[in-house]
Amino acid sequence: MQHKILQTHIQVYDKAEELSDSWQALLAKARQALDSSYAPYSNFYVGAALLLEDGQIVSGSNQENASFPLCLCAERVALSSYHAQFQGRKIVAIAITAKNPKFVIAEPVSPCGACRQALSEEEFRQRQPIQIILQAETGPIYVLDSIQALLPLSFNPQFL
Ligand SMILES: [Zn+2]
Repeated sequence: MQHKILQTHIQVYDKAEELSDSWQALLAKARQALDSSYAPYSNFYVGAALLLEDGQIVSGSNQENASFPLCLCAERVALSSYHAQFQGRKIVAIAITAKNPKFVIAEPVSPCGACRQALSEEEFRQRQPIQIILQAETGPIYVLDSIQALLPLSFNPQFL
C-alpha cells in the first residue's frame, strides 16, 4: 500500500491593500454584488465577481427561493451571466465574499461543493486555471491558483 498526500497551497493576505489593484477592484465588485443578494431565508449574503481577460468584470449574488432547492449560489449566477453575455473571453479570477447581518464573518467563505464543480468545469472548458480570491466581511484574504486546490481528485469530462 502507498499513501498519497494532497496539499493545498493558499496565499494569505492580511488586508486588501496588499493585493494588486485589479484584485482589489475585483473584491470591491464582489462586495458591491452583496447589494443584489436575495437571502431572506438564510440571511447569508454572498457576492461573486469574475475578472475576464480583457478586464471586464461580471458579478453575481445568491438568489434564494421559498422552494429551497431552487436557491442559486452567487458564483453560479455570475458564471451564468458571463456565459449569457461574455462567453469566449477567458476568466482570469473570481472573488467571493459573504456577510451575515447577525454577526461578522471574519474568515474567508469558500465555494460550496456544487460551485467548486462548476468552476472546475469552467477551467476545463477554457483550458486555463481561474484564480480564487476569498474574503468575508473582514479578516484575512485567501488566494488560490485554481479551484483544483479546493477540489482535489475532481470529476471532469475526461472520464466521460
Ligand atoms: Zn455554491
